[in-house]
Amino acid sequence: MGNKLKAVVVGAVLGVAGAAFAQGTPTTPAAPKADVKAPAKAAAGKAAGKTEVTWWGHAAFVVKTPGGATIAIDPWFTNPKAPQGATWPEAVDAILVSHGHFDHVGETKALAQKTSAKVYGSFELVNLLGLPEAQGMGANAGGTFTVKDATIHLVEAVHSSSYQADPKGASQYAGAPLGFVIEIANGPTLYHSGDTAAFSSMALIAEQFKPTVALLPIGGHFTMDPAQASVAAKLLKVKTVVPMHYGTFPALAGTPDALTTELKKTRATTKVLALEPGKATAL
Ligand SMILES: [Zn+2]
Repeated sequence: MGNKLKAVVVGAVLGVAGAAFAQGTPTTPAAPKADVKAPAKAAAGKAAGKTEVTWWGHAAFVVKTPGGATIAIDPWFTNPKAPQGATWPEAVDAILVSHGHFDHVGETKALAQKTSAKVYGSFELVNLLGLPEAQGMGANAGGTFTVKDATIHLVEAVHSSSYQADPKGASQYAGAPLGFVIEIANGPTLYHSGDTAAFSSMALIAEQFKPTVALLPIGGHFTMDPAQASVAAKLLKVKTVVPMHYGTFPALAGTPDALTTELKKTRATTKVLALEPGKATAL
């Protein structure tokens, strides 16, 4: 990366952080709140037999499986679009972190500490996070892991990855960026692409894992935009796309409507399912 381009990108990232700041996003993770509204037993009963996906804004999701696994993905729970007043999940089995940027690592360390969840991500990133040995599941593309009734495959993403432990400190190399395929027994096969451009090996992901629902970035600037996401949906052969990584900041300008328009142009039958932050949706 040339110095001039680097300055532009760093400036953009700082601009993004500044935008979050302006909207009152705390720079340190908010203390986890006690889950007084939804007793765990009632929530588990409601989810029985279904897979529930809750979008927390940006690239953050919480997935609950029929077999009782709770999986958090890229848990930046304090992002500007996060549901107001929502309580963090009480019990989490696995946290998947696609890459080291702040808008994806988010509150991983605090959530891991609170729930004792295992953290899956690139070998380098997991090392940098400094988790207790039993919780750090550093791995790489090609790795497959079982979490209760979910089988998680780590796959490639076309992006960059660095981690800044201290906001005033230097960024450190954090390994390759990743995406995740989550095969759920008696449920959907989800693909969370992480931050990525569209790439031809999405066809290989389709061939190997047959995802049914893809969680894809559409914001543009740092990732795919709606036009590229429609190409990705075609390569992945998915029935449903859940858009993410848009609207968090002005730079992430893609919209679900624009994605719908792009898919129509290709006569694709793929549905766009735009989730509302904080609302659990059965898939
Ligand atoms: Zn991002």
